[in-house]
Order: sequence, then C-alpha cells, then structure tokens
Amino acid sequence: MHNPDASAALILEVALAVPLAQRFDYLAPVDYPLSGLLPGIRVKVPFGRQEKIAVVLAVKTDSEFGPERLKPVLAVLDRQPLLSAQDLELLLWASRYYHHPVGEVLTAALPVLLRQGRSAQLAQEVVYELTDSGWQIDLQQLQRSLRQQALLHWFRMQARRIAADELHEDKAALKALLAKGLLQQQSVTEPHSSAISSQPPLLANPQQRQAIDTIISQLGTFQPILLEGVTGSGKTEVYMQVIAAVLQRNQQVLVLLPEISLTPQLEQRFRQRFAVSMVSYHSKLTDKQRLQAWLQMQQGRAAIMLGTRSALFTPMRRPGLLILDEEHDSAFKQQDGFRFSARDVAIARAQKLKLPVLLGTATPSLESLLNVQRRRYQGLYLPGRAGKAVAPRLQLLDIRNKRMQGGLSEQLISVMRQTLAQGQQVLLFLNRRGYAPVQICHGCGWVSRCSRCDANLVIHAAEQMLRCHHCGFEQRLTAQCPVCNGSQLHALGMGTERIELLLTSLFPGKTVVRLDRDSTQRKGRLEDYLQQINNGEADIILGTQMLAKGHHFPDVTLVALLDVDSGLFSIDYRSPEKLAQLIVQVAGRAGRAEKPGQVLLQTRHPEHPLLQTLIHQDYRAFAVQALYERQQAQLPPYTHQALLRAQAHTPQLPQQFLAAVVEQIQSLPLPPVTVLGPVSAPMAKRAGQFRYQLLLQSSQRQHLHQLLDSLLPQLVALKQAKAVRWSLDVDPQDLY
Ligand code: ADP
Ligand code: ZN
Ligand code: ZN
Repeated sequence: MHNPDASAALILEVALAVPLAQRFDYLAPVDYPLSGLLPGIRVKVPFGRQEKIAVVLAVKTDSEFGPERLKPVLAVLDRQPLLSAQDLELLLWASRYYHHPVGEVLTAALPVLLRQGRSAQLAQEVVYELTDSGWQIDLQQLQRSLRQQALLHWFRMQARRIAADELHEDKAALKALLAKGLLQQQSVTEPHSSAISSQPPLLANPQQRQAIDTIISQLGTFQPILLEGVTGSGKTEVYMQVIAAVLQRNQQVLVLLPEISLTPQLEQRFRQRFAVSMVSYHSKLTDKQRLQAWLQMQQGRAAIMLGTRSALFTPMRRPGLLILDEEHDSAFKQQDGFRFSARDVAIARAQKLKLPVLLGTATPSLESLLNVQRRRYQGLYLPGRAGKAVAPRLQLLDIRNKRMQGGLSEQLISVMRQTLAQGQQVLLFLNRRGYAPVQICHGCGWVSRCSRCDANLVIHAAEQMLRCHHCGFEQRLTAQCPVCNGSQLHALGMGTERIELLLTSLFPGKTVVRLDRDSTQRKGRLEDYLQQINNGEADIILGTQMLAKGHHFPDVTLVALLDVDSGLFSIDYRSPEKLAQLIVQVAGRAGRAEKPGQVLLQTRHPEHPLLQTLIHQDYRAFAVQALYERQQAQLPPYTHQALLRAQAHTPQLPQQFLAAVVEQIQSLPLPPVTVLGPVSAPMAKRAGQFRYQLLLQSSQRQHLHQLLDSLLPQLVALKQAKAVRWSLDVDPQDLY
C-alpha cells in the first residue's frame, strides 16, 4: 500500500552483520520520539525471512530506494547510542581502509550479547574481588581448606571481579575468604573510589623519568609514541606512572596486550598499584563478563581496561590514553574475517580522539622504527635494565660435528647441570610442539603427510596420534608402515614433547614444566604452570613461543634456544625480523632479578649475520640493517601491500578467478600498482582446498587504495568469484 505521507518518513541507514559492503535503509517507527533516533543505537530489522540486529549509521529523509519500498524497523533497542560519533567514524574508516563489509566491522566492535540484541544495561549485581592480601597470600597457607584454596586460586586465575551468581556452589568457602579479608564484596555500579593509588610508585630512574614526563606532557593531544626499552628496563613502571597521571585527570586508559596469558600478571601489578575500578576483556571470559566489562568502560565506570586485540574498539566515556604493550607482536593482527591491525587502528583511534598512543616493546617492529625515523612517531628509549638486574650475555653454541643427545649438545647439558646444581632455573625454547615433526619408514621411505594439506602429520606420542597442525586431521599412531607393513617406523626431528622425555631421563629428580599449546589446553593449566614456575617448584621450563611473551620469571638464569637455524632460511621476507624478535624476547627471560643471566643459542650457522649482529651488537643494530635491506628490496614498510587470497576444491577455480581479477586491474585507468601473481600460496593446499594468491604492491599507499576502491565492486560481481572463497588482506603480516 502506498503511503501518501511517505516523503516525510524518517529513514534509518543501518549496518547489518552480513558479508555485503552496502548499508541498508529502513523506515523509522512512526511514533518514536525523534530525539531518540541517533547514530550508534541498535535496532531490530526484518531481513529476508529473518530478524537481525543492526546499528544505525545515519538518520535521513530520503533514500535511493523510495520510501514505499522500505520496510519499517521492528524495534529500537537502545535509548542512548552505544557507539559515539567518533567511534562510528573510526569503524567506518576501518571498513574503508580494510575493504571489509561495514556490518561485520561494526559487529567486531560489539560484545556478542549486544550483537544478539541483549540489553545494554549494567548489571546491578554484587561482585567479589581479591584484596591485596588475597593476591599476595601463599596458597599453601590455605592447605587445610582445599575448597578455599581452590576458590582463591580461581580468583587469581581470572584476575578480576566475579559476580555472585557465578559462585553458587561455594558459598561456605566464599564466606570464609571474605572473613579472612582475602576477598571483598563490591557492587559493580558503585562509582570507583576517589583514591587513585593504593601503592606508591617506584622511584623512576632518569631515563624512566624523562619518558614519563614526555608522555605526560602530551596528554590531551594526538601523539604516537614508541617506547623502546630492553626487556626488564621498566616499561611497565613507565606505563603505570603515566596511567596515574591520566587517572588524575579523571580519564580512562585502554591497555592492549597480545596474549590472554599476560593479562592476569599485568592486572595483578596494576591492582596492587591502583585503587580504581579496572576490567579486563579477552576471549577466556564469558559473554556476560565481556558485556559487563565493555559497558563499564562505555559508561565511564571503569577507569582501566586491559584486553587483547578485540578490546580495541571498546567505547570510552572519558578517553585519556591508549597503550599497546609488545607492539611488535603479530597477535595484534587479526588473521581471519576482519583482518585489521590493532596497532594501526589504535593509532587511527588516538588521532580521532586526540590522545597519545603509547607503543611499548623491547623489539620494535620495523614499521614502527621507520615511523620514528620519519617523525610520525616520537621515539623514547630505555637503554638498560631497571633496578639491580643486568642484561643477559648471549652466546652461540656451534653444534656442528658435536655430540648431541636428542636436541641437546653435551656442552649445553653440562651448563644446565651447573645451573641446576646452584638451585637456579633453566628455560629451554623450541618452537615446535608435539613429539616429532614427522614419522618416516626406514623400509620404504613413506612419510606421514596430511592428505588434505601440504604438510606433515606431527607425532603426538602421549596421545598416540599423528596430527596435522593446519587442518586438525588426526589418525592413530601405528607400529606398522601403512605402505609396506614394515615395522621400522622412526620419529624424525624434535618437538617439545620429545625433549621433555629426554630431560626427565637426563635430569632425574628435577621438575620439568612444559608450556605449549598442547600442555596448556585445559582451562587453568597455564596459570597453574606459571604459578609453579614463580613458586620455584619448576627446575626446567621448556616451551614454545608462549614463553617469549612478557613473562617475568625471576629465578631463571640460563636460557637456551635449541634450534634457531630453522628460522634463518625461511622464504618469508619478514622471518628475519620475527626471528630476531623471538631470540631477543626469549633471551630477555634470563636474569630478570638479581642473579645475572646467560643465554645460549644452538646453531649450525654461527657465522650467520643475523646471529652475529645480535651477539656482538643488539636488536637496534639488527633493525637498522634489516630496514636497509627492506628498502633495497622495495618491501614493506617502504612499500604497501594487499594480498588477495582465493581457494577452492580444485586448483583451476582460484587460478581463473585471480586471472580475471588481473584482467580487471589492467583495464582500470589508474596509477600503476605492481601485481605479483597469481601464484600458489606457500602452503598450496590446506584442508583440501587449493590456495592461490595475488599480491598487489605500491610505494604509494594512496595508489594501492585507489585501486582497491575501484576494484572491489567489480571483483565481487565477477562470476568466477562465486566459485571460490576469497579474502582481501590489507597490510598482510604473513603471506601464507
Ligand atoms: P619491562 O616492562 O620493561 O620488562 P618492568 O617494568 O617489568 O620492565 O620492570 C622490570 C623489573 O624492574 C620489575 O621487577 C620492576 O619492579 C623493576 N623496576 C622497574 N623500574 C624500577 C625502578 N625505577 N627502580 C627499581 N626497580 C624497578
Ligand atoms: Zn614402509
Ligand atoms: Zn592437514
């Protein structure tokens, strides 16, 4: 039916979580007060036969579709915008920059429950949290009540407030811990206390002082700052003193970390320092907890949020500062769906909000270093370790022609013995989980390959499985070769599981703790292990890159990297940078307290320039050289890239699609952009899909984006596009 008043109808332009680039128009409800229809509120709309939750982007009076063709929204869900105008602007910018559908980008900014249409009400619930003594008490003191011990442990693992309704089964233990002053009760909606600090800051050393003053002087203005400080140089102390100044101004701070496992550690340090309300935001929390944390920031009730990548978009009522710790870490780049870089978007957010954004690391990314050189970022440097710790000594262990036991040279074993004999901890790093990376038949040469991927099946001995680390395929480990039925099957190479067995036989009576994705799969395991390490119960700590990230293990004095060679000859142009960062970060776990540390790198290429530079000079020297090489080779950060990936169940389909895309590109009247490909992906087959890619590169970021702007609508319309799964990755971190 045609409505004669249709021209006067109000129209809501919304973003819907569908993989389509466009926005959608709906009619506003007729009787709804105009003042309540604002960008940033959610509405429920009909979409096909479904109902969907949408976010209003604009309120307008005309639509290219003519109002008579528009459907009315079904309900208005929010009385106040969830996202401010600046937040919306940032998300729209990110959608354009990453060429990702606007609805999916907006969705990424909302906690799951809000996406589902749940109410954005802060719960009026009672919560419990650890007191200072709850953080500090030795759990052994609660040995007589295992329930209390377990409950306190759980609070520490969660490192946050826990709502009363999550604690139903343990009322007695809860009461006891409250009575002992280890927990306290609070009401979430109670505004945070007026006191900012509960613990005084440390006396900053002169470099810290200068960094702190410089950052504080820029509060209230947009300024990216790279805080480069060797591991243990006191960056966290700098963060805390700057945060105190932000809190003085009654503003909020968002701190992003690469890893969930690091949030409890940092949160504990922050909680001891600050009396303000603090929330965390990461994937280990329940949907409800995340919603509440998000709302607390959005409504200005919490002063500090600690979170992983997904916390970046959390709205802030009174934004004061953004911090990214370990800015070099590739975990800040989302590798699927909306492939954004939390670091780069944080810079854009700080610019919109006119805030400083502080990037901290011991091993800056080459991108950030170049930005400092070009004076887009301000560089601050902490050259030495804070407090009494001294920098660890790095040494190469040439293992050519040396006798080895498993993956350990005899020289390493003897240094380990000395260290253990002095009651100190040893940390061994090997970036390969499982027992061995491949199984081989001595009779016929069969190797355990994944039939669905270009990859080997890894031996997991404890579970007696062969497992593909790329598609999850697994099969039972058997004693007989599937081809020749012979029984001469061998495990080739070393994984952490195999080293662990070796260590227990080499060092009987010593406690070995293995930290990798397999050993820490069960909830709470990682936290248990970390506590075991920090209590001094572990003698040898063995693990994958999980160990490289920011942990503070005060009793570790010997660190050994068992195999650095595999990283030296990768085809990925970023791999030297990643390897150097990894070596320096792992090395940084040594000697973080009073006892000096020693770092040994086992290698068959002791003359390799990367290793030589790190041993005789430092990461900075390496970075200067690496940047020079990138410039010579015209690679990022001197050029800009976008990677178009396509996959299908036959190799032809993605090839045809990408060939059609190349044709389109050539027909576009635009400044030239280098097109490399189509070529098969470095891992040409994965989970049964054949993978191809096209790399677009330009020295002018603008040229690249002009091309993408024109290309994408045409690309979506290609008939070949329907036959493949494709994705676009702007500023790709890895080309796999
Ligand atoms: P980073 O974050 O750079 O690795 P941290 O902030 O964790 O370094 O500091 C490393 C250690 O040095 C911590 O135990 C910390 O308490 C100590 N520390 C930091 N700054 C100072 C200081 N100014 N005086 C004394 N100790 C300090
Ligand atoms: Zn065989
Ligand atoms: Zn596989």
